[in-house]
Amino acid sequence: MSSSFVDPLIIETVTRLCETEIPKYQTEECYNTIPRALFTAMCEAGLGGLSIPEEYGGIGASAATSAAVYETISRYDIGPAIFLSVHAMVSGIISRHGSEQQKREYLPKFASGELLAAFALTEPNAGSDTAAIASEAKILADGFSLSGNKCYITSAGFADIYLTFAKTEDENTSGLSGFIIPKETPGMSWGKPERKMGAELSPIASLFFDNAHLPKSALIGVLHGGRKVALSGLAGGRVNIAACANGLARAAIEDSIAYMKERQQFGKALVEFQGLQFMLADMHMKLSASQLLTAKAAEDIDLAAHGTNTKLSSSTAKCFATDAAMAITTDAVQLFGGAGYIKDYTVERYMRDAKMLQIVEGANQIQRIIIAREIIESS
Ligand SMILES: Cc1cc2nc3c(=O)[nH]c(=O)nc-3n(C[C@H](O)[C@H](O)[C@H](O)COP(=O)(O)OP(=O)(O)OC[C@H]3O[C@@H](n4cnc5c(N)ncnc54)[C@H](O)[C@@H]3O)c2cc1C
Repeated sequence: MSSSFVDPLIIETVTRLCETEIPKYQTEECYNTIPRALFTAMCEAGLGGLSIPEEYGGIGASAATSAAVYETISRYDIGPAIFLSVHAMVSGIISRHGSEQQKREYLPKFASGELLAAFALTEPNAGSDTAAIASEAKILADGFSLSGNKCYITSAGFADIYLTFAKTEDENTSGLSGFIIPKETPGMSWGKPERKMGAELSPIASLFFDNAHLPKSALIGVLHGGRKVALSGLAGGRVNIAACANGLARAAIEDSIAYMKERQQFGKALVEFQGLQFMLADMHMKLSASQLLTAKAAEDIDLAAHGTNTKLSSSTAKCFATDAAMAITTDAVQLFGGAGYIKDYTVERYMRDAKMLQIVEGANQIQRIIIAREIIESS
């Protein structure tokens, strides 16, 4: 079986789950929360353990299958795809860098949905520039004392476990360490969910640490080795964001065609105007190219154990697919005319959601920096 094999049974299950479960939560009441029942239903279908090896209770899916799952969920709503992809990124990092005890303690509970995970790297003065992280974990005889703030953290206040990165070396060095921090840790608190533009089913908020005491066992990987730990999740995360973009773009194209078959102007259905057909053709070409780049990047991740470089293809897929989704969803709003601007129709939501994807998991300017560096260095 090819490493990039996509399991059709999982995709069928996810499609059914999205059709029946997601509409229940697309309400003002649920927006800016993580509906726990939805997360539980996703985990019952195996999605909590997508990136977790079978020996720790997961399904150890290929990166290609994971990407297909995120594309499918995002076809219905991007929110659950985003909080699930963050949960999977943390699961993947603990699978790769955690001690045996950390893997046994957390991974089965992540897979079952007993625990939801969050990833806390960004700070008010350290977004693209992670070297500027100011949160500091002072080294004590019996562990660490963590102080500092994080912002824009997906699932903050709803997640049970926070994989958090902080400085552990002095001002002249940039040593970071990663810590696995349970929600009930004294000295830790969180703010209200931010009022944001879209992705309403994936809240973000700030985290505050005030001399939070962490035991030695909270450290993941080696002391001062946190940068490597944090970056190890990024290639997979970028492929998943590319897949989310493809799901949104698919939704925008499918909904546009359905609307254009119904809507009549000048005595014809919109879909009969050649100028609009050309827009649809361009949208389709952009999506097809994005799907191919995403599949190639996922395949590289599945082959990473054999030394395949994942940096260039994951950044290329993330940047291209999210820019394509922004263009496709904007065109969809145009194709709907005035209706496209109205919240009773779906496409304005897709356009708002696409904007987020160009910013998260490394903004697209940062992806272009990485792509340029990689191709120049390898020439
Ligand atoms: C919905 C949402 C969910 C998020 N979830 C999480 C999460 O779960 N965990 C987490 O840790 N973070 C999360 N983030 C934070 C996200 O990763 C950052 O917002 C992102 O990395 C950009 O950082 P910034 O906002 O500080 O922008 P800045 O770094 O201030 O960048 C501002 C602009 O300048 C550009 N720029 C910056 N540096 C350069 C450069 N050298 N050259 C050219 N252009 C440059 C950027 O591309 C951007 O366009 C989330 C953000 C959002 C909006």
